[in-house]
Amino acid sequence: MIGRFSVGLLLSLLFALASAEQLLVPGASIPERSVRYDNEQIIRCSSSALAPAALEALITRHGVDIWGATGEHVDLRITEQTAASRAVRHMVVDNTECRVIVHDVERLVASAERVQTAAAVRSAAQRGDGEDAAAAGPVPAGWFDAYHDFDSTRTFYQNLAQSYPDMATFLPSIGKTHESRSIFGLVLGGSNSTASAIYDQPELLDEHGIPLEEVFAERAASEDLAAAKPSIFFQCSIHAREWISNAVCQYVLSTLLDSHSRRVPAVVELFDRYNLYVIPITNPDGYAHTWSGDRMWRKNRVPNAGSTCRGVDVNRNYNDHWGQGGSSNLPCSDTYMGTAANSELETRASIAFFRSASPVHLAIDWHAYSQLILRPYGWSTSDSPHEARLKQIGAAMQAAIRNTHGMSYTNQKSIELYPTTGTASDWFYGSEATRYNGGFRSAGYTIELRDTGRYGFLLPPEQILPTGEESYAAVLAMARDLLDNGPMYA
Ligand SMILES: [Zn+2]
Repeated sequence: MIGRFSVGLLLSLLFALASAEQLLVPGASIPERSVRYDNEQIIRCSSSALAPAALEALITRHGVDIWGATGEHVDLRITEQTAASRAVRHMVVDNTECRVIVHDVERLVASAERVQTAAAVRSAAQRGDGEDAAAAGPVPAGWFDAYHDFDSTRTFYQNLAQSYPDMATFLPSIGKTHESRSIFGLVLGGSNSTASAIYDQPELLDEHGIPLEEVFAERAASEDLAAAKPSIFFQCSIHAREWISNAVCQYVLSTLLDSHSRRVPAVVELFDRYNLYVIPITNPDGYAHTWSGDRMWRKNRVPNAGSTCRGVDVNRNYNDHWGQGGSSNLPCSDTYMGTAANSELETRASIAFFRSASPVHLAIDWHAYSQLILRPYGWSTSDSPHEARLKQIGAAMQAAIRNTHGMSYTNQKSIELYPTTGTASDWFYGSEATRYNGGFRSAGYTIELRDTGRYGFLLPPEQILPTGEESYAAVLAMARDLLDNGPMYA
């Protein structure tokens, strides 16, 4: 008995030591958490089970969190609190066309944390640290085997830009968040960057590090935007919990730079013609919170007056049909629109960066999950004036993704999923952005990455590389179409 006890004690001691050692591996992004998801489930309802008005009510009035959706079904996270509502029970829990696809969210999250921790430790061990890591080149060995937290991601991009000084500019701050994190930016495509001329000069920025309106007025007056080198614009991680978005953007950017250095003709042609402006983590406070507090957090982290609930959904806050449906005016909702259009620092930083990138010919907001390529509009069932062309570019991306690893993405109008307003991709294409865009219309896409709901936001890190590879193929296909067929005009 004593012997067995001692062996048990020894094993637990060894386990504790191993865990402590894991935490000490330098550069390993280890998730921590203060929020649990006990008694929470993911319920999938067929689209026929929920009329649009019912879905709208679930999101905007009953605070139900939509995890993912396709044309066929919608995945809803039902907590103990939301399940207490008679309406939610009637519409979802007791609905025979709805079924539970994740019985225990807490278990799924805990299991994903163990996988990430092990992957991060292995990944960091491959890299080593200090001089070894610096000598390892632009992308450290094993980097895409694990997800990376805010600070590690920032260091990754700094190092990446330093590795390609003629092609990449790292902007330490394009605006500051409520929690005083700097939103960093990247410009790929060589010198000729308007952005560094703006963001390097504090006198051109407001107290949040966002360029003053005069800067753009002066640029519009002194520069022929129609003749300037155009841009493609990417945003990643506007929704905090969609970790694959951050990882895919790291993969796409580093692969573009590597391909350019090897003179791959399609990529050389792309950067001869275009700059690529990127906000790698559009919502730093939210993203950091998913690593240290609540893995399922989506919004930013601002306090809301008169409510104990924090956060605005930055992707419902843009000044494009803001507040006209498909978002909530309740601060506790995951799709809370904020107190006014463009009220959030992240929204304003994103818009200013877009304006510094203009003319922008195409913009992608990278999300997860559901495997969708969404084009305008989210706010109206009408076709946009560029519907045929937008659909064609979407189809090119869809085919490129399928040809890489056989994954099936759906190419559709955003509203075919469910109505949304105040989103980044509608703003990119919409009338406000077009006013700043030198006579061009920026194609606007929301891409929802892997998967279709088996893991949802908790996509295992082993899927980072294949998701990155197929997304890279989609980016090249999109660029091919732009280069061959030219931009869209306002
Ligand atoms: Zn999202």
